[in-house]
Amino acid sequence: MKIIKVHNKQFQVHITKEQVDNRIIELAEIINKTYSGKNPLLLSILSGSFMFTSDLMKKITIDCELTFMRIKSYAGLKSGGDVKILMGVSEEINDRHVLVIEDIIDTGNTIQQIFHQVKKYNPKDLKVMSFLFKPEAMKTDYKPDYVGFEVENKFFVGYGLDYDGHGRNHPGVYILSE
Ligand code: 5GP
Ligand code: MG
Repeated sequence: MKIIKVHNKQFQVHITKEQVDNRIIELAEIINKTYSGKNPLLLSILSGSFMFTSDLMKKITIDCELTFMRIKSYAGLKSGGDVKILMGVSEEINDRHVLVIEDIIDTGNTIQQIFHQVKKYNPKDLKVMSFLFKPEAMKTDYKPDYVGFEVENKFFVGYGLDYDGHGRNHPGVYILSE
């Protein structure tokens, strides 16, 4: 589908399912090479990155573990500023190679706060892989370690990303029509 309607808004296809699938293979390969023998702990940020995490996990061939953190930062189409942690991490992070799995980095506010929280548990190494990254929206000089796709400073849905709770189910990424 090239155009979808989510809630009351129209979105156009921006990254196809095929492009996503190909990139997932490349990202998993990076993890397989970088973390071989290190038993990394993948820390998936819910809810947005559930689909990304699932697809990525299926292509990871090395020994690894997975845990989740649930946060909320967006209301509608605008970034909220303050990040609410709804479900913290329980797995032992101390001395582990931790890779945070995010859906999208917009202003960078959310990831900075997550980074700060996780750092407190003294991981051996802490890196971030984000499916999407909006370099133009960044408010700090923070840069994710690994990025699926760089996108423009617009609003996206699909592949786990929602517009007010809807649209997460689409297998590609869609951009808000002007
Ligand atoms: P930041 O704190 O970097 O400004 O925002 C990050 C969070 O806002 C993401 O984890 C995501 O939940 C949400 N977000 C940012 N940009 C978009 C977007 O284009 N579409 C959707 N659906 N969520 C977004
Ligand atoms: Mg998110």
